[in-house]
Amino acid sequence: MKIASACIYALKIPFVESFSHSLSERDCSDSIVVRVTTESGISGFGEGVPRPYVTGETCEASVEYVKNELLPWIVGTDLDGIDLKRPFETVSSLLPEPACEGAVAWNASRCSLELAVIDCLFRHYDLSVNRALPPASQAVTYSGVITCGTTANVEAAAQRCKAAGFKTIKMKVSGDEDAERVAMVRDILGSSASIRLDANGAFNPDTAIRFLESVEKYDIECIEQPMPRGSPTDLAALRSSSPIPVMADESIVTIKDAHDLVRCKAVDYFNLRISKCGGIHNTLVISEIARSAGIGIQLGCQVGETAILSAAGRHLAAHLQGLRFVEGSYSTHLLVEDISEEDIRFGPTGRASTLAGAGFGITVCETLLNKYAEHTILVS
Ligand SMILES: [Mg+2]
Repeated sequence: MKIASACIYALKIPFVESFSHSLSERDCSDSIVVRVTTESGISGFGEGVPRPYVTGETCEASVEYVKNELLPWIVGTDLDGIDLKRPFETVSSLLPEPACEGAVAWNASRCSLELAVIDCLFRHYDLSVNRALPPASQAVTYSGVITCGTTANVEAAAQRCKAAGFKTIKMKVSGDEDAERVAMVRDILGSSASIRLDANGAFNPDTAIRFLESVEKYDIECIEQPMPRGSPTDLAALRSSSPIPVMADESIVTIKDAHDLVRCKAVDYFNLRISKCGGIHNTLVISEIARSAGIGIQLGCQVGETAILSAAGRHLAAHLQGLRFVEGSYSTHLLVEDISEEDIRFGPTGRASTLAGAGFGITVCETLLNKYAEHTILVS
């Protein structure tokens, strides 16, 4: 059964409230969704979240890249020729090695298409993706997140996290002045909560150490991306003098990044995100590199992911053993409306069940895709 056509949607869904960190403030999602459809009319959906400050991709460039560079390798593909025992590796190998001119990597673009073909493949056989990603647990527990903002906003967000019963919380920080807010958040959440910080590259080596020493007393699990993406040796130097474990996020985009960070002993944790890493195959490869090197893993998300990446993340989070932290599945906690018929959001305490329906286990509502698409491109 061949893939006969595809459609690319450039999607913008408003947020219920804006989300900010040191690199960006946004009030709507900005992602691309790809639908691939077989000759018999079975469709699969994938999503990528291009971010210039993460993978170097813009949504506009990503739409063009998917249309011109990736889809020609996919339209016409016979799904019956894909090995169901190694579907991620096989689908990933259908796509060309990403060119990197003008971008760190075309990973969000690649991710959108990998997920669409995988979803279509498993729907074609009426099987769940969990056949290829057997769950190690039947539920996933997500972290709460506190974004950058005024002291009053941070306090309100911490109170909401406490009321929702989150046991692990990530707090965005953007400078020295956040030390007092970290103290306040620790005070509100109590001593048993796991608190980690994400600086999105806000510090330099000197300000990073000064800040980390000032918040060490608040029992912080780790600092994510304290400095901008740069040399792994600089990150290794910071780690060697940091009183708090260090997690790479913007610094870990490609498989080569993973090897470089391991070789330099630069970090204690990787934050892997399916869109950032270029799909499930690459995320599995990097998680194995991390496991072999004794590096802990967080499975993170992009702000504004729809139900498609949420569902893919749910499957992967349930499958990966020893995951230290999980983020995602915000859905209508953040978006005014999500695009699946099912409610994909996490519940109280951040818990959510695994998914078992065909493909990624959600039903994408094309009426909503059309409602929020800035433009669509049909390819056949
Ligand atoms: Mg981050």
